[in-house]
Amino acid sequence: MTYQQFLQYIVDLQKDGLELFNAGKSVLGQNILATHVGSYDGVQILIQGGIHAREYITSLLMVEQARYLHYTGSVRNGGIYFLFATNPDGIEIVLDGLTGIPCDITKEYLTRANGGSDDFSQYKANVNLVDLNTNFDAQWGSGAQNVRCPSTEDFIGFYPNSEREVLSLINFTNRVRPSLTISYHSKGEVIYYGFAGQSEPNLARDRQIGEVLSQVSGYALIPTENSAGGYKDWCIEKLSIPAYTIEVGRDVLPHPISIDYLGEIFQQNKDIPLTALNQAILYQNQIRFQEIQSSSSNKKAFNLFNIFK
Ligand SMILES: [Zn+2]
Repeated sequence: MTYQQFLQYIVDLQKDGLELFNAGKSVLGQNILATHVGSYDGVQILIQGGIHAREYITSLLMVEQARYLHYTGSVRNGGIYFLFATNPDGIEIVLDGLTGIPCDITKEYLTRANGGSDDFSQYKANVNLVDLNTNFDAQWGSGAQNVRCPSTEDFIGFYPNSEREVLSLINFTNRVRPSLTISYHSKGEVIYYGFAGQSEPNLARDRQIGEVLSQVSGYALIPTENSAGGYKDWCIEKLSIPAYTIEVGRDVLPHPISIDYLGEIFQQNKDIPLTALNQAILYQNQIRFQEIQSSSSNKKAFNLFNIFK
């Protein structure tokens, strides 16, 4: 697959009647393509993928998920944002090598970081050699695998939220205020939930929703350990919403996972977006119910107080 074919795969959604828009920009000025399925009223969730360059199979999966929901018309309440490729510059490097890189000095820098090789198929970072999913301001720099200097993977950046793609995702999230987020990665067929320092009730809520996602996908649910600076981590720490990292593809498959496995991965994940949205609606209703209950019991206490006055 070339990068042009990759982009076309996303753009072709317009032929199915889905509208694409830009959720933000990359360092090299590329658009972070997105779509929305369902209604803009009510509970919204956000699903993002392709933040690690070599994991672009997740972008293709999300295109299939959006198309599937569009054709089945199954989103009846609320809506789902899909951000297909949070790291377009990195995905271009994986698919096309350095042909699209504008400056010779950047090409030299990237080649050196890549051990002198022109095979960039294992590349994870953005064009600044920052691992975007370690750059978010959520216990930044405390992850077990963190690297402090530019690298094709695991470099956290010189300071948190330093990268344009990370700021784009933060700004977009703050604008649409999702009630739940999912980050697609590869590989291992597992779902990660929770984050260090999360409150016990929120952790229990996220485990409960995670178990439902685990059931529909067949993926194992695992608590997060020794990770920091990810988008999921940021959503949990800063927004207190349920957020998940889902790793698609069998662990034995090499990176990048071949498009030959897209059918299998889609089958496992086709019900994830709608299930996640319905779970988000359920817990939002619970919050509203609790608010109504506490305000009506306050009213009762107030009336009693008046009677005995
Ligand atoms: Zn990843």
